Amino acid sequence: LIKLFMKLETGDSEIEKPAECPLDREELGRCSWSFLHTMAAYYPVTPSSSQQQDMTQFITLFSRFFPCDECAEDLRARLKKNLPDASSRHNLSQWLCRLHNEINTRLGKPEFDCSRVDERWRDGWRDGSCD
Ligand code: FAD
Repeated sequence: LIKLFMKLETGDSEIEKPAECPLDREELGRCSWSFLHTMAAYYPVTPSSSQQQDMTQFITLFSRFFPCDECAEDLRARLKKNLPDASSRHNLSQWLCRLHNEINTRLGKPEFDCSRVDERWRDGWRDGSCD
């Protein structure tokens, strides 16, 4: 892990910055979830029917090109049984949160409380720690 870090001298203080290396599956996953949840958090509250179609198509295409074969295959299988709900910002955010939780469970990770998805990805935590 130490090899992943390079030390940067900035004046008196030394800070550690990750080296700019190709993404592994975990980092790709984190970056992709950040993008997907943030996209859902800023999706229109009342999308037009073409926006709904575009978002559904975007998610389908995402699952064809996601650059982790096992993840993409698993995602495509899930999408067959569980179509994206792009009918509103709230519904898309909740649909994505539930999808992410299914994958969390598969990977042995804890479930996220979907009632807090807007705090996590749009508004910041209610305790003000992101302000
Ligand atoms: P991540 O799961 O990446 O989550 C990042 C952050 O999102 C968390 O810190 C938390 O704050 C927040 N979060 C967590 N759960 C939710 C939720 N339900 N809703 C909203 N926010 C939440 N890895 C595999 O090994 N096998 C796979 O098959 C696989 N499939 C994947 C499919 C997709 C579509 C994506 C995007 C990633 C996939 N990954 C897969 C990667 C995996 O999901 C994780 O991203 C990776 O293991 C890093 O996990 P993490 O613990 O850092 O947090």
